[in-house]
Amino acid sequence: MGKPTGFKEYDRKKVPWRLPVVRVNDYDEIYTEPRVEQLKEQGARCMDCGVPFCQSSTGCPIDNLIPEWNDLVYNNRWKEANERLHKTNNFPEFTGRVCPAPCEGSCVLGITSPPVTIKNIENAIVDRAWAEGWIVPEPPETRTDKKIAIVGSGPAGLTAADQLNKVGHTVTVFERASRIGGLLQYGIPNMKLSKEAIQRRIDKMTAEGIIFKTNVDVGKDILPADLQKDFDAVLLACGATKPRDLPIENRDAKGVHFAMEFLTANTQQMVHSDSLGDDFISAEGKDVIVIGGGDTGTDCIGTSLRHGCRSLVNFELLPKPPAERADENPWPEWPRVFRVDYGHEEAEAKFGKDPREYQVLSKGFLKDEQGNLSGIKTVHVRWEKNSDGGWAMTEVEGSEKEWPAQLILLSMGFLGPEQYVAESLKLEVDPRSNYQAVHGKYTTNIEGVFAAGDCRRGQSLVVWAINEGRGAARAIDTFLEGHSNLPAPGQTQGTSMEMAWS
Ligand SMILES: Cc1cc2nc3c(=O)[nH]c(=O)nc-3n(C[C@H](O)[C@H](O)[C@H](O)COP(=O)(O)OP(=O)(O)OC[C@H]3O[C@@H](n4cnc5c(N)ncnc54)[C@H](O)[C@@H]3O)c2cc1C
Ligand code: SF4
Repeated sequence: MGKPTGFKEYDRKKVPWRLPVVRVNDYDEIYTEPRVEQLKEQGARCMDCGVPFCQSSTGCPIDNLIPEWNDLVYNNRWKEANERLHKTNNFPEFTGRVCPAPCEGSCVLGITSPPVTIKNIENAIVDRAWAEGWIVPEPPETRTDKKIAIVGSGPAGLTAADQLNKVGHTVTVFERASRIGGLLQYGIPNMKLSKEAIQRRIDKMTAEGIIFKTNVDVGKDILPADLQKDFDAVLLACGATKPRDLPIENRDAKGVHFAMEFLTANTQQMVHSDSLGDDFISAEGKDVIVIGGGDTGTDCIGTSLRHGCRSLVNFELLPKPPAERADENPWPEWPRVFRVDYGHEEAEAKFGKDPREYQVLSKGFLKDEQGNLSGIKTVHVRWEKNSDGGWAMTEVEGSEKEWPAQLILLSMGFLGPEQYVAESLKLEVDPRSNYQAVHGKYTTNIEGVFAAGDCRRGQSLVVWAINEGRGAARAIDTFLEGHSNLPAPGQTQGTSMEMAWS
């Protein structure tokens, strides 16, 4: 433990983001350079409590050794902190930037004071390690004769590839998109996670011997059965990319798009400079409405602002969360409280008010004679507890409203993976249409075929994809070799935080 009295001496201080009025004009990352003294003070606030909830079941899903690296940072031992960090996390620069930090929700200091800024410390350790040249390619010294195919290059597939390559198996990652990274690449925008940060890892993994094949759609360009023939094991890490639709009146209006159509096109054109022509969806000069919240909704807000939208509104069906934990949401659960994310802050800076409108139900899109979207009809809803203790929604009479809009983005979650790979392999799926495999085992009904990440658990978080990639790698290594020295990540099924977030 760094400083026994640190938690009494220092307050929580987060590394600030760049000013919203400045950052909204570019696609650079929103973060500022952290001050080393501030990070050391935050490390000193860690109480090294007997049971560090931050790194156990309700906290970090990959069991990051948080108290250990807090202490090492406080004592200026950054290189060792980086070594400890990489023992449990293959990609701390991804989680350090985008993880919602369930660890902080269950930090013991959080019972009486604001928690340690764990995520900031994690990010600073790994950024420093890259800057100092401590992260270099480390190819395995020997190779086994085993070959593994991984379908999908999101964080689950990348993590599994990294782990399996470490123990000497030959790994090929197949990706249908033109760039590696899954939702890290085409979902999460550059301002939250720069594409250089992803490429740096891919370059390292390539130098370590992992083979990446882009523009290969398994199930269309290659038969999954051929992968079964040519490889000793196949891991499906295809993500949950089927978006939830809003089938209300005039759904065919020109100007209603799924969030991922908008975000993917934006990254392709604005960040990668790919020319998309008419396929680019612009928010410039438009009244934009984002339906649905979460990370995806926030990213649509941040991106629309950078395009130069004329106005911006974000509909939420549920009521505004409370400012403080409610009684039925005690520590160490994830605090379900009102939060202001980067996009909300930027919208407020530009238009003078938070863009979120709560308890709004969409009733029908409006379109003109040419079929172009012109607005949306809504009604206000009330949420009340029914006799079973559940929540029931009713429409408020007389609260109908019309909103002008030329662009509406649907961000209402995802319904599981696309089914063509499963159908081709005759894979069993669960009632939510995810690939059927048990957490911790990752085996499907087909011998030698495994599933991990969002395609197995449903839309989730980067840190859970890393958890599943590590677990699946261990399961595959055991299947191939009869035993495995790869570490097992946390075995919990999911946290209250994950359920509240998605
Ligand atoms: C807009 C958005 C923002 C998000 N923001 C955050 C955030 O801030 N923090 C956070 O923790 N989580 C966030 N998430 C969730 C997070 O990105 C996902 O939970 C995570 O990426 C899942 O990882 P995965 O590897 O399982 O799947 P994915 O990242 O979805 O990757 C799956 C990959 O498989 C490929 N693929 C699918 N089928 C085939 C096939 N047949 N052949 C070849 N390739 C195939 C896909 O093209 C894709 O590249 C966000 C999600 C979205 C949509
Ligand atoms: S990965 Fe997420 S939960 Fe784990 S230590 Fe980092 S920020 Fe916290």
